[in-house]
Amino acid sequence: MLPHPLISAEDIAARVAALGGEIATALPPGPVHVVAVLRGAFVFAADLIRALPREIRCDFLAVRSYGSATETSGGVEITHDLALPIAGQHVLLVEDIVDTGLTLRHLLDRLATRQPASLHVCALLNKTSRRQTKVSADFVGFEIPDRFVVGYGLDHDQRYRNLPYVGTVEETPP
Ligand code: 5GP
Repeated sequence: MLPHPLISAEDIAARVAALGGEIATALPPGPVHVVAVLRGAFVFAADLIRALPREIRCDFLAVRSYGSATETSGGVEITHDLALPIAGQHVLLVEDIVDTGLTLRHLLDRLATRQPASLHVCALLNKTSRRQTKVSADFVGFEIPDRFVVGYGLDHDQRYRNLPYVGTVEETPP
């Protein structure tokens, strides 16, 4: 069964275009060092960089969160690190979703030790109601309710990343 639509492809495109403008205006002058968090953010990041009228560099981090298919337990492992140094760079970390916030907290702490000139976060989706730690994205595409979502890069057991919209699936009991 196809996921139930929550955010349409048209609404995503409009919001991504607006985010590109917001980010371009807000970030300090100079190249923007975009870091996409794999795998969930790769579709969003691909669209966002084309909506960002700034000189950019692009890099990737892959992370693995411990926990079940739909819940993180807070442990985060970087399985693929940045290829480029970020010291002195204006870094924009691009995330698919901030849920408990534990992954983002971990990544921000790790990246901050590498002394970027600035460090901002853009998340496509935000589930504020689920936060377990004090962390927030500087730029957010959409606030969403406490539902497990897929599509536009986000998966459930590696499925649905190619859906052009964001939708909800029923969670299968463990
Ligand atoms: P955290 O709970 O640490 O904020 O979220 C970490 C990661 O869990 C996100 O980057 C994302 O990969 C995954 N995640 C959290 N909520 C959802 C969701 O509703 N759908 C999907 N597909 N992944 C989620």
